[in-house]
Amino acid sequence: MKCIINGKVVLKDSLAENLAVVFDDKIQKIAELKDINTADYEIIDAKGKFVCPGLVDMHIHGYLGADVSDGDAHGIKKMAEGIIKNGVTAWCPTTMTVSKKEIEDAFDAVREVKNSTEYYGARILGVNSEGPFINPSKKGAQAEEHILRPDADFILANKDIVKLFTVAPEVDGALDAIEKVAKDGSVLVSMGHTNATFEEANKGIEKGVKHTTHLFNAMTALSHRNPGVVGAALSEENVSVELIADTFHIDKGLFGLIAKIKEDKLCLITDCIRAGGMVDGDYTLGGQPVHKEGIKCLMPDGTIAGSVLELNKAVANILENTDLEVFEAVNCASLNPAKALGEDKEIGSIEVGKRADFMIADEKFNAQMTILGGEIRYKGE
Ligand SMILES: [Zn+2]
Repeated sequence: MKCIINGKVVLKDSLAENLAVVFDDKIQKIAELKDINTADYEIIDAKGKFVCPGLVDMHIHGYLGADVSDGDAHGIKKMAEGIIKNGVTAWCPTTMTVSKKEIEDAFDAVREVKNSTEYYGARILGVNSEGPFINPSKKGAQAEEHILRPDADFILANKDIVKLFTVAPEVDGALDAIEKVAKDGSVLVSMGHTNATFEEANKGIEKGVKHTTHLFNAMTALSHRNPGVVGAALSEENVSVELIADTFHIDKGLFGLIAKIKEDKLCLITDCIRAGGMVDGDYTLGGQPVHKEGIKCLMPDGTIAGSVLELNKAVANILENTDLEVFEAVNCASLNPAKALGEDKEIGSIEVGKRADFMIADEKFNAQMTILGGEIRYKGE
């Protein structure tokens, strides 16, 4: 068995020093270092760095030139191995509003990788199907010609692999679809790319919406006379929200306010596209051209097209721009998404019995080491 020592251990409700974390593929023991005989274990010295739970990215389209919507298993493996270096140990490959055939091919490619018994990188929890049941007026970077009327049967026919999906609650047929998927209970329903009023959003929530796709982006804004989808998502305490905390999609001045309101319902995501981890230049998103410059990705008409954010960087951004404690900021990218996805019995925090998924990170949350199911899968310089 292995044992991590000399770290600042990021527990779900505190930051603790002088602890030893003992694990095989699961966490077996968390004890005071003085109560452990280190000779019994393979020792990993964290050298004073943060020992965090492995991060969970529930919304990521691409990385290192690959895109989930390509429907290519090799590309999905490349992403899974790439994001390990950012401390991500579990993720939801995310499809775009592309043609139904392309979405189905992407589902199949994710199935193939997820069902592989060989190591492929960060563990796949299931697909995040972003669309195609969205409102054309809030399509953002999604392709309008592929938008479809909400269809619960399409989601339920793929519930073996789909973990969550996005729907605009105000479009024709949405409420019935939301109700049907929510009743089944195996797929998380998220509202997004939506032009709903506050009332329409609340109707969606009544029918079973429990999550919000990238809060603020591609939805009706919060205004004092029209609280919109943002107002509904912030008001309803059982609804979790995703946030692209790259400081460009959302002004950093709002991070603290959102964290205060949503508490353990705030889930940091990357919404990263294939340009992530790549040099500045021209790329595509769902077949549409995108230009990356620094932290920005724009379509030719200026529409924001996903991000190139990395999840450990999102944690650093939240910490830098709020007065959250380290454990609270880390929870936003580990325990909170794990809870939203119903995976928190297995992953999301450093607790006995959970999977031995860790990120050892420096003060800026650069991953120094990533451990997946007890195996060291990444080691920085
Ligand atoms: Zn997205």
